[in-house]
Amino acid sequence: MPYQQAEPILEVQGLKKYYSVKGMRREFKNQQVKAVDDVSFTLNKGETLGLVGESGCGKSTTGRAILRLIEPSAGKVLYNHEDILKKPAREFRKIQKDMQMVFQDPFSSLNPRIRIGESIKESLTIHSIGNRNEREEMVMDILGKVGLRPDHYFRFPHEFSGGQRQRIGLARALVANPSILILDEPVSGLDVSIQSQILNLLQDLQDEFKLSSLFISHDMSVVRHISDRVGVMYLGKLMEEADTDTLFSNPVHPYTKSLLSAVPIAKVGRKRERIVLKGEIPSPLNPPSGCIFHTRCPYAMDVCKQVVPEKIQIQDRHTVACHLYN
Ligand code: SF4
Repeated sequence: MPYQQAEPILEVQGLKKYYSVKGMRREFKNQQVKAVDDVSFTLNKGETLGLVGESGCGKSTTGRAILRLIEPSAGKVLYNHEDILKKPAREFRKIQKDMQMVFQDPFSSLNPRIRIGESIKESLTIHSIGNRNEREEMVMDILGKVGLRPDHYFRFPHEFSGGQRQRIGLARALVANPSILILDEPVSGLDVSIQSQILNLLQDLQDEFKLSSLFISHDMSVVRHISDRVGVMYLGKLMEEADTDTLFSNPVHPYTKSLLSAVPIAKVGRKRERIVLKGEIPSPLNPPSGCIFHTRCPYAMDVCKQVVPEKIQIQDRHTVACHLYN
C-alpha cells in the first residue's frame, strides 16, 4: 500500500490488559499479570498489519481487547477517530458490525446442531440487516465468495474439512460487510497447502471488500506473506514495528533478529546465522525490570535492567523500543 495514501482507520493507544491474581501463593497476592502492557499502533485503511510473537506474548489478548471481547484495563481504541472503548454497550454493538474477528478454530464457535447457512445468517439478524429473503441471498452470495457451494448452506459443521471450516469462519465475519477484520491465527491449524489456499483467498477478499486487517500469528513466514506492515510483540509489549520488507531485510531489535534467524531462507545455499536466546520466556507475573527482554538479550547493558526503553522512530515508519538506538 503506497504510504501517501495511508489514512488511519484504527488507532490503538496505550492499550493495557492486566489480570488480578487470585488464589495463588501469598507472595503473588495483589500482583497483576500484564498480558498487554501499553501497546500502541495504527492500522491504516486497506492495510494488513501483522502482529507476531511467541505464544503468550499478548497478541491474541490485544485483538480481543480491541473488540472488547475482554474489557481492556486502560488505553484508547479509536475507530475512525472515535474512542470506541468509551461507547456504551448498545452503541458499541453497532460498531461491532464493522469490526469482525476470525478465530483459529471456527468449529468451536459453530453450534453443531445448526446448519451452516443459519449460523452465517446470525450476524445479519443480530444487526437487523435485510429481510428474510435478502438475508438468505446475502448468505448464498458470501458462500460463493469464500469458495463454498450453495448446497453447503444446508449442511452441519461436522460435514466440513478444516480448510472449509475456515472458509465458513470468513463467511461469518464478512457477511455483514465489515471494514476491519481481526484474524487470530487463522491458518495455524491447517496443512501447508490448505494454508496457502486460505491466505490467497484472504488477499482476494481483502481487495474485494476493501478491508483493513490485523493479522495475528506466531508464524513469521505467514505474516510476511500477507502483511504490509509488521509489529513484533514480547511479553505484552510491542518491541519493533516496520513495513514488512524493511522488517525482514533490516530488523533492528535483538528479539526480532532472533525470531527471524529461525526462519528458513528460500534460496539454495543461503543460510542465516541462528541466534539462540538463553533461558525461557519470563513469567508475566514477575516480569523483568527495565527492558522486559534483558534477561535473554545478548546485548543487554546495565541501563537495560533499570530503564524501560521508549519507542523511538529510527526511520520513516520504522520504530523500535531498545536502548541500543537511543
Ligand atoms: Fe537488549 Fe537492552 Fe535493547 Fe532490551 S534495551 S533489547 S536488553 S539492548
